[in-house]
Amino acid sequence: MSVPQPFDPYCKRAAGEIDEIVFGAADQGVSPDAYAAMDGTFNEQTGEFACTGCYIELGMPSSAAGWKAGQLVPQPARI
Ligand SMILES: [Zn+2]
Repeated sequence: MSVPQPFDPYCKRAAGEIDEIVFGAADQGVSPDAYAAMDGTFNEQTGEFACTGCYIELGMPSSAAGWKAGQLVPQPARI
């Protein structure tokens, strides 16, 4: 089984190029790629994930099944 290399398609950076990932990985004693793969937004199919900044930019999407990077961003419900 091979997992695609984590990549943030929103700011177009690999895990190792994102400070928060690099610092978090060092803190946990894992590689930046492994750390990004633990992120809740990590999409195992495509390797995409969203860093915190991008996730906020996207409006902090969530879904019942758990939102993954690369998926459509659900629109906020209109009241
Ligand atoms: Zn990003």
